[in-house]
Amino acid sequence: MSHHCTGAGTGDQLSDCTEALLRVYEFLDGEMGPAECAKIQAHLDACGPCLKQYNLDLALKALIRRSCACEQAPVELRTTILHRITMVRLGGTD
Ligand SMILES: [Zn+2]
Repeated sequence: MSHHCTGAGTGDQLSDCTEALLRVYEFLDGEMGPAECAKIQAHLDACGPCLKQYNLDLALKALIRRSCACEQAPVELRTTILHRITMVRLGGTD
């Protein structure tokens, strides 16, 4: 047994970036509790790549909200916008 253990080893803290990135959407949508929010926030504060991804998602969310006057963007619209953004990124216009 020579592996280096840094933490308590319980499932109580983020093991790596994967969980943080998976849960960024819940975090953005305010679907998690205060304790969970604090956990993600702490990881974003400490992890540059995850913070960058979070900012991208945040910008995307703002874009979707701005392009629809409704309080909630329908899933179809959201999918369309996401698809369009992907096309722009790939360099195709149509
Ligand atoms: Zn991370």
